[in-house]
Amino acid sequence: MAGGGTLQFVDRTQAFPAKRPAAARAEDFREIADRYAPQAAEDQAGRCSQCGVPYCSVHCPLHNHIPDWLRLTAEGRLREAYELSNATSTMPEICGRICPQDRLCEGNCVIEFSGHGAVTIGSVEKFITDTAWEEGWVEPLTPGPDRGQSIGIIGAGPAGLTVADLMRAKGYEVHVYDRHDRMGGLLTYGIPGFKLEKHIVMRRVDRLADGGVIFHSNFEVGRDASLEELQARHDAIVIATGVYKPRAIKAPGVGAAGVVESLDYLTASNRKGFGDDVPGFDDGTYNALGKHVVVIGGGDTAMDCVRTAVRQGAASVRCLYRRDRANMPGSQREVKNAEEEGVEFVWLSAPEAFHGTDKVAGVQVAKMRLGDPDASGRRAPEPDPGSEYRLDADLVIKALGFDPEELPRLFDAPDLSVTRWGTVRVDHKTMMTSLDGVFAAGDIVRGASLVVWAVRDGRDVSDRMHEYLKVKAKAGKVAA
Ligand SMILES: Cc1cc2nc3c(=O)[nH]c(=O)nc-3n(C[C@H](O)[C@H](O)[C@H](O)COP(=O)(O)OP(=O)(O)OC[C@H]3O[C@@H](n4cnc5c(N)ncnc54)[C@H](O)[C@@H]3O)c2cc1C
Ligand code: SF4
Repeated sequence: MAGGGTLQFVDRTQAFPAKRPAAARAEDFREIADRYAPQAAEDQAGRCSQCGVPYCSVHCPLHNHIPDWLRLTAEGRLREAYELSNATSTMPEICGRICPQDRLCEGNCVIEFSGHGAVTIGSVEKFITDTAWEEGWVEPLTPGPDRGQSIGIIGAGPAGLTVADLMRAKGYEVHVYDRHDRMGGLLTYGIPGFKLEKHIVMRRVDRLADGGVIFHSNFEVGRDASLEELQARHDAIVIATGVYKPRAIKAPGVGAAGVVESLDYLTASNRKGFGDDVPGFDDGTYNALGKHVVVIGGGDTAMDCVRTAVRQGAASVRCLYRRDRANMPGSQREVKNAEEEGVEFVWLSAPEAFHGTDKVAGVQVAKMRLGDPDASGRRAPEPDPGSEYRLDADLVIKALGFDPEELPRLFDAPDLSVTRWGTVRVDHKTMMTSLDGVFAAGDIVRGASLVVWAVRDGRDVSDRMHEYLKVKAKAGKVAA
């Protein structure tokens, strides 16, 4: 690896003292990987048993060739490891950082099953692609021979960026429309910088722009053009708009100043990280400094909010969740991280009302108990009468999850078929919506999901769209 000012080589004997248990060694590696320790990466990769059935790959939504690139890494053949990892993913270093590996690849590692702690696959994946960027092994995006057809992608999150990457490489003219000023979707404005550094996302966007992908920022479909107008401009369209309607809390006082939406809070923090002027942060609305913060919700967004509040210097941070620890949707790894940082989890608790006249001053909390399983199979929480109490708070962050916006109305496209949850309906063979030549990918199809699934959808849509466009081009030639 080329020497750089920030590189530090770590003594592997210090990194893995012989007597530390395997699980602890795995945790060590997470930290070590952040400091670029090739030897440690090779050691960690060498722990892979190369078992007959690669359960890790099976449970990776991209079916990455994990054992093969682990073996190459263990042998010090980093460039080949990178090339193999890059063959199935458009953003391996991003997935390596933020996939909930404990639920995917690492959670299905046979070494984990044998009680020795999973191979830290995500960290190795991050390491080899970060190394590739440093070494200049990441190839520029080279467009294939011009096909004379263009596509329009609505939304520049991981799903839209993946389609842009793969379709540009096939020789299509690619336009990406996004309502934000910067590309990346939730990679840029949702996920906090301490989990995913923003320059990592921006260099991916820059690579696409350098390869000829045309980005239209501050362009909101529904406001700046209807879906029909975009269809007239392009040979095919992909809807990759994600899900952005926050789930509401119905409780007295919820409209008080100081009760804010999670995504507004995280976006302000991420914008601040970019060095933007953020009046809502500067006037204290989205700044937790010195405040008693209560975050409501038990998913990964709630975890990101509590951990951001800690970093902003909150006086205290509590997370209210209506079920118990075992029944929360968020990653257990994230809960552990948050607890270690001083966050207090208040399980089996839900807000009943918000105190305060001009500004929120506290949350009236009802204790909950778990009743019979609900439609999702999880035990439904119900209030425990007479258990209410007050928690003081001067910043309350609502993080109950997101639903799709009403796209047929927003896009002025009444024939765009949606499910009863508002997600866009697609034919799972063609990945096309009810409108000819309009495809869809990512959260807007699945509901709130994961980056790695958005990448997978982007990959699948690119294949199907390519087939569709080839037929369309042939039909055009015949008609001519
Ligand atoms: C706070 C938070 C933290 C998360 N953390 C993780 C994590 O750690 N790991 C993980 O795997 N997943 C995480 N997720 C989920 C993950 O971010 C999403 O599953 C993923 O980003 C979905 O990708 P997407 O491309 O479908 O949509 P998005 O990333 O949401 O991108 C959609 C894009 O479409 C644009 N758009 C929307 N409507 C329009 C319109 N009308 N016109 C033009 N543009 C439009 C938006 O501006 C946005 O840029 C997190 C989600 C949140 C909210
Ligand atoms: S993409 Fe995610 S699930 Fe797949 S190998 Fe990488 S970290 Fe694991």
